[in-house]
Amino acid sequence: MEVAIVTVGDELLAGRTTNTNAAWLCERLDGQGVAVGRVTTVPDRVADIARVVNEYRAEYDAVIVTGGIGPTHDDVTMDGVAAALGRPLAEDERVLEWLEEEGGYAREELTEGTAAIPKGARPLHNRVGVAPGAVLEGVYVLPGVPSEMRGMFETVAPEFRGEAVHREVVVADEPESALLDRLEALRERFDVGVGSYPGESVRIEIRGADETVVGEAAAWLTERVESPQR
Ligand code: ATP
Ligand code: MG
Repeated sequence: MEVAIVTVGDELLAGRTTNTNAAWLCERLDGQGVAVGRVTTVPDRVADIARVVNEYRAEYDAVIVTGGIGPTHDDVTMDGVAAALGRPLAEDERVLEWLEEEGGYAREELTEGTAAIPKGARPLHNRVGVAPGAVLEGVYVLPGVPSEMRGMFETVAPEFRGEAVHREVVVADEPESALLDRLEALRERFDVGVGSYPGESVRIEIRGADETVVGEAAAWLTERVESPQR
């Protein structure tokens, strides 16, 4: 399974908020063996949201959209997603009932539009905040507030499944350019994916579906690189 993540918010693009939601989702999905093919941040603008959601939903198995779902004027994510799916927004009776019964809100108290989700969508209840999320045609709309986003993602996490990926990391105390021949030999010899991440030393990540093969590849490489001084 391969998914795309769309984070919505002017404040993300202005650097006022760090995009921790994207990082958290990537890590969480990766842990479930789900590949993330794109992370894109768009402003709070209906047309931009609709355009990327439409593009990604044609290309990926699912699209996760976070941020901008409250009923305030600058929260337009539901409008953007509804436009992408060609549906109107509609107050969802199940959301209103849930907010009354579980949330302790009276209908009159709720800001207009609080329970509006694209028509035909499955609502996702918000156990931490107020605004509901929604799922429709593989598009998952989640809140921007990190604790709300995480809580809501957990309720749909089992819907994201992939093959377990095994990983091992080998650290080499050599310049990355010096390692190229050995990394190439590694890829030729073993059926694994190889990532090379330079920093003070080079972290070489070996991944694959077969745990034994990944272990053998890591052992093969460990014998052939300069290990950092302990
Ligand atoms: P609300 O219903 O409270 O308005 P919302 O779903 O509309 O929530 P936003 O208005 O986009 O979410 O953002 C609410 C808060 O969450 C802001 O403080 C924002 O900075 C933060 N936030 C939004 N998106 C992200 C993100 N991708 N990573 C980290 N924090 C985020
Ligand atoms: Mg908001």
